[in-house]
Amino acid sequence: MSAVHRIHPDPHKGDPAEAILYDDCERCDEQAADAFGLDLTKLREAWRIMVAVETGGPLRVVGEEYRTGNEARLGRVLYAVYVINERLTR
Ligand SMILES: [Zn+2]
Repeated sequence: MSAVHRIHPDPHKGDPAEAILYDDCERCDEQAADAFGLDLTKLREAWRIMVAVETGGPLRVVGEEYRTGNEARLGRVLYAVYVINERLTR
């Protein structure tokens, strides 16, 4: 059985107003560790943020950063996929 999301954003926990995944939430922890289990809406947004944060050149968006630790954890997984794809499809 899957863990449930706590209520978020919770300003008392310092949550950002908007994020795909929050910290200190069991369900968000699970989702950050399982990119393939994400629904397409979250996956698409996570990919967009990863490209904006991790890549160089024109795809980098200055000022765009991960909003939570779980977003960063997911982003690093997605970036590994991005790099592998770049190497294999060159
Ligand atoms: Zn959550």
